[in-house]
This record gives sequence, structure tokens and C-alpha cells, in this order.
Amino acid sequence: MPAQTRLFRCLSDNYGVLLHDPETGATAAIDAPEAAPIEAALKETGWKLTDILVTHHHADHTDGIMALKDKYKCRVVAPAAEAAKIPGVDETVHEGDKVTVGKLTANVIETPGHTSGHITFWFHSEKIAFAGDTLFAIGCGRVIEGTMPMMWQSLLKLRDLPDDTRVYCGHEYTAANIKFAKTIEPNNKALLARDELTKQQLAKGEPTIPVTIGDEKKANVFLRADVPEVAATLGMAGKPAADVFAEIRERKNKF
Ligand code: ZN
Ligand code: FE
Repeated sequence: MPAQTRLFRCLSDNYGVLLHDPETGATAAIDAPEAAPIEAALKETGWKLTDILVTHHHADHTDGIMALKDKYKCRVVAPAAEAAKIPGVDETVHEGDKVTVGKLTANVIETPGHTSGHITFWFHSEKIAFAGDTLFAIGCGRVIEGTMPMMWQSLLKLRDLPDDTRVYCGHEYTAANIKFAKTIEPNNKALLARDELTKQQLAKGEPTIPVTIGDEKKANVFLRADVPEVAATLGMAGKPAADVFAEIRERKNKF
């Protein structure tokens, strides 16, 4: 039976998401921005929390962990490199490890850059990836602890996932990301189409995620640093893609 998901808003612009295995009843929260909206989502769905899968140590992804763990006795899985900064960790994982939620299995992909130990949970057979603050819809996370080349490599790993992979990310930043992306690719048809779609979704109060890898490849300028036209627009024709990516990320920081 396919996995079920429940997406909801937390804090000011974070997303919370539950992943449920209907066969076993297992339910994971991916990150725990705050306990109350996660408990509300559990109540609405009738699902019982068994696991929390943590993408990185930032407080807006971990502050809800202990309250949920106390109440549901759930297992907390976190990146090994950041476990010391995350409360309540039961199990640590590295690149290539497998994490099960009931009968659903995730591959752990290390995607450092935003933080130095950030991971992505990829549920291959479900065609779902939980990318935390690495890849956003038409954007990517700020490079806080890692380096620009490190973040570019992490984004390439995600770009290499199958096109029909649905990506859930940590924040609702899509409208601002599109505004920025249009300064670099004002004539990108896929980007302009996403702009329209996003406006419609937000006007209806709907989330703009998940997005697919296939759609992001066409419209997300941060995944397009190795497209010659993008480099040329930035006056960087022939430069290494990691340098072009760094320029795009720095422009976004100042935008
Ligand atoms: Zn973060
Ligand atoms: Fe965050």
C-alpha cells in the first residue's frame, strides 16, 4: 500500500509533514518545528507517531522533539554528524544507511552545506524525498556551515533523483524564490508557468509543495548553474558550475 502524507504549517513559515504506512500504522514526522501543529495533525488523521526523522539541527526543525518524544515514546533518527546538537536522538545515520518507517524504507543521502551534517530522507519506492533546508521550491537553503562547492554537490545529488520524485522541503519560500529567480531567468517558460501556479496556490491558501525533481530541473535556477545560458547571463560563461552556483547564492543573499 502506498504511503500517505499530511502536510501542514508550523511556526511562521516552516512546514511540518507526517508520513504514514497504512499497512503497519507506523507514522513519522519529518522534523519537529513545534509540537502543537504536529499533535493536531496526528489527531486529525488518527495516526500514532512512531518516529521522528530529523534532517538537521536547527531549532526550527528540532524544538518540538522532546515534547513529542515524552508523549508518544517515538524513536528519533538524526544525522550522525549533528546528533550532539539534537535532543532525544535514539539512532544516528550516515550516507547510504536505510531507515524504515513500518514497511517504508528511506535511503539516507548526505546533503551538507546549509549545515555541515544535513541529510535528506529518500523513500525510493514511494517517490518521495524530504530535503529539509537543502532544496526549496525554486530555491535552496542558505549556505551557513558548509562551502558553496559542498552545497552545489548536495544539490546535484538531489537533482540526480528520478524526475517523478516529490520533494518536501522545510519552508514556504516559493514566492520570494520565484521573484529572485526571474532576475536571472526572466524568460524561462517553466519558471513563468510556476510563477502563475504558485500565485494561484497561495491565493487559495494551498501549499506550493511538494514539487518534483523534473519540474525543479527546468525552473529552479539553483539547479541550473551548469546551464550555459545561465552562466552567460551572469557574465560567467565557461566558469565552473560551482562558481556559478556561488554567484547565484550570493546574489540571493543580498536580494
Ligand atoms: Zn535550517
Ligand atoms: Fe529551517
